[in-house]
Amino acid sequence: MSETDGLPPLRAVLEAHGLDPKRALGQNFLLDLNLTGRIARQALPLSGSTVVEIGPGPGGLTRALLSEGAQRLVVVEKDPRCLPALEAISAAYPGRLEIVSADALRTDLAELAGEAASVKVVANLPYNVGTQLLLNWLAVPHWPPVWESLTLMFQREVAERIVAAPGTDPYGRLSVLAGWRTRARILFDVSPQNFTPPPKVTSSIVQLTPIAEPLPGRLETLEKVTAAAFGQRRKMLRQSLKPLGGEALLVRAGIDPQRRAETLSVSEFLTIANSLDT
Ligand code: SAM
Repeated sequence: MSETDGLPPLRAVLEAHGLDPKRALGQNFLLDLNLTGRIARQALPLSGSTVVEIGPGPGGLTRALLSEGAQRLVVVEKDPRCLPALEAISAAYPGRLEIVSADALRTDLAELAGEAASVKVVANLPYNVGTQLLLNWLAVPHWPPVWESLTLMFQREVAERIVAAPGTDPYGRLSVLAGWRTRARILFDVSPQNFTPPPKVTSSIVQLTPIAEPLPGRLETLEKVTAAAFGQRRKMLRQSLKPLGGEALLVRAGIDPQRRAETLSVSEFLTIANSLDT
């Protein structure tokens, strides 16, 4: 895709608005509309849903989402310097773009959805808050959540932790929480040269969709158990889970106390969490 929307090339947008990337805001911009188009297409169809983008920056992904058919796109940007560039996009797509000038960590997807029954989230997330945003979206009290899919850019290492299976090195707390409530997969990698400025590491696009009926369990307890178990991942569970009941808890749950955290499946973690709750 070239600049078919009549808007200036993104490099010119950065210059016109003095958008020097700020590291503190995780600003690694995507200036290639072919690439942002490819990311946007992973969430098709866009026309029937409300789409939410976190951290639109100068608007490369925003423009792609609109061009690929989003009829109502809500963007949440913390850096006020980006607002004029986003206003120009809004003018090119009248009535389709809502700009929220806020910290995404303090916004609620259900509120952004408004009257819409569900939303699709598509974002090149700021690295410094990406994991926390995902945890917030996974940790909602009611399931299924308001989001029908999350299509997100993460550092490759974080993406691997999200999708990891038991028995692998990246398997941890994030894998269990994501694996409990969602199906998550890595769609493709994006190399550092695609960003301005280039980050040090490769990134990946991850897509998560909610499981309609996850195994029963309490999120708070599962978080407590996984935090303790993976906090000392090389130790046997009877040791790492000592503060929660150690050996007695594991025997009650029917799990061998000599096992280590990384060998447990998501459903075994839930069995332990549920034993703790009963
Ligand atoms: N989407 C743009 C792109 O792909 O070129 C920019 C992506 S850049 C990795 C991350 C963006 O998130 C920046 O525009 C940054 O200002 C914004 N941002 C950082 N922290 C944020 C927060 N807490 N809430 C909302 N936006 C934030």
